[in-house]
Amino acid sequence: MKTITRRKFSGTLARGIGASAVAAHLPLACAMKNKQTSDKLGIALVGLGSYSTYQLAPALQDTEHCFLAGIVTGTPAKERTWANKYGIPQKNIYNYKNFDSIKDNQDIDVVYVVLPNSMHAEFSIRAAQAGKHVICEKPMAMNVAECDTIIKACDENGVKLGMGYRLHSEPYTQEVKRFVREKTFGDILYVSADAAYRSTGNPNQWRLNKKLSGGGALVNMGVYAIQSAIYSTGQNPISVSAQEYSTRPAYFKDTDETITAQFEFPSGAVANIMTSHNIRANRLYATCENGWFELDPASTYIPLAGRTSRGELNFKQESQQKLQMDDFGKHILFDGPNLAPGEMGRRDMVIVEAVYKSIREDGKKQKLNFETDYGFGG
Ligand code: NAD
Repeated sequence: MKTITRRKFSGTLARGIGASAVAAHLPLACAMKNKQTSDKLGIALVGLGSYSTYQLAPALQDTEHCFLAGIVTGTPAKERTWANKYGIPQKNIYNYKNFDSIKDNQDIDVVYVVLPNSMHAEFSIRAAQAGKHVICEKPMAMNVAECDTIIKACDENGVKLGMGYRLHSEPYTQEVKRFVREKTFGDILYVSADAAYRSTGNPNQWRLNKKLSGGGALVNMGVYAIQSAIYSTGQNPISVSAQEYSTRPAYFKDTDETITAQFEFPSGAVANIMTSHNIRANRLYATCENGWFELDPASTYIPLAGRTSRGELNFKQESQQKLQMDDFGKHILFDGPNLAPGEMGRRDMVIVEAVYKSIREDGKKQKLNFETDYGFGG
């Protein structure tokens, strides 16, 4: 009997062929799968740290187009806990060594890489080579060259690649993008974007270790400020100048503490961003020809809030991770837009590298030249 995998089955459904005609060709085991597994994509989380534990796994209990099908962990003690909590069968549990055999597992359609940044490229590429769609957490990788290898692996293996940029699925952020697209307040003149928190914990954590993180505040929180500046202007920047500040060198031995950067955009708009592991700030403000808009907070996953020169914004609060993973599911199942494609992650890494170069060159302006506009992300 011809076997139709769930991924192909979903694609067939999406192309509008009647489900009953397709079901006639399904092997019994597949046909007997419960509703959850027959019309939702199975996601395997790789790396069961705080983001997977407290955000992604809970969100996957409410998603409509995907569900938590498997886990990949380097910590054996987590296997049982997660299996019991989420009813994950033993055959869908992997470690970092046997991960590649996930290619034979029809329950897993998408691999979501939620590891320290230095491991993003390796696991995204291995997932692509196993024929699985990939969601890669931010920052995409350690540098632009690694981003290229991830994109190439996904292209060569015919799988989709999305970034864990949850805000593109979030209603306040989508409203900002609408303001820009529809020129609700006229042309954007200036954007100020801050994404920062104060780190006082374990000085040996991976985020403060450059070999594991690739950088400090800029690669961790700074990518949110870069994203804010771009979707609040609807353009990719054409230049950046940057400055670094250090007040706690004994704690931030290896990674950047605070960075400011100024961007120029093709329209003439300018933006200033601040990112830090020493300062608390989370805000996006844009002043325009005919008014202004603001999100504060702008990138946390506690509810966002916003206002404009015409009044308060008020949107329904839902898990951003749920919305994000469902949007990626819709991209795969129904050919919906990829709101945060890998190329967007790569673009941000080009900007990160230019910021660091400007700092090394004492604030010298770096020219940027992007051919593709991923500002709106589909
Ligand atoms: P975390 O430290 O809580 O978890 C990291 C996981 O990786 C742990 O399970 C740990 O066991 C595992 N790991 C494997 N090798 C490791 C090593 N050499 N050192 C340390 N840990 C190792 O981190 P997190 O907060 O879950 O972040 C994971 C990824 O998710 C990062 O890339 C981060 O930027 C991203 N993230 C994204 C968001 C978002 O809003 N999109 C939020 C938080 C984290």
